Amino acid sequence: MNWLTDYVKPRLSKVIRKRESPDNLWHKCKSCGQMIFHRDYVAALKVCSNCDFHDRIGPKDRFDALFDESRYELLKLPAVKDDPLKFRDTRRYTDRLKEARNASGDQDAVQLAKGSLGGVTSVIFVQNFFFMGGSMGMAVGEASSALPKKRLPAKPRSFCFRQRAVPGCRKGFYP
Ligand SMILES: [Zn+2]
Repeated sequence: MNWLTDYVKPRLSKVIRKRESPDNLWHKCKSCGQMIFHRDYVAALKVCSNCDFHDRIGPKDRFDALFDESRYELLKLPAVKDDPLKFRDTRRYTDRLKEARNASGDQDAVQLAKGSLGGVTSVIFVQNFFFMGGSMGMAVGEASSALPKKRLPAKPRSFCFRQRAVPGCRKGFYP
């Protein structure tokens, strides 16, 4: 028995394999199945280099990609009631909201950020599909209307990126 080949080599190989192939090293395209080096996929803003499929991106990726030097300040969302209509489908809306908040760490399905875009102060509104399918609750509406009403500081240029499921899909069309 050789302790170098039987003991040390397998352990060493295991460590080296772990370092060379972490789970997130490759991304599999949802459309064509092509394996893409994860770093290239992120650098291409989650667009497949093989079939040009545009994958969904969340607010952070959007802000990082658009603001100069990826520097920005997240703005506080307008304070709203969670569920003034006391809406309920198969579950209470407030329960869904609580669950999404716990899972994402976000307050609602929208994020606002302010920063410099091409040297011009700008505010970007991003509706987040990853939060309850971009649910158009009161917070999304208030944040959206805050832009044209110029309630945000310094009258910045504003941009809106919407991602959402079909409005009304919580009215009983799916369980
Ligand atoms: Zn593809």
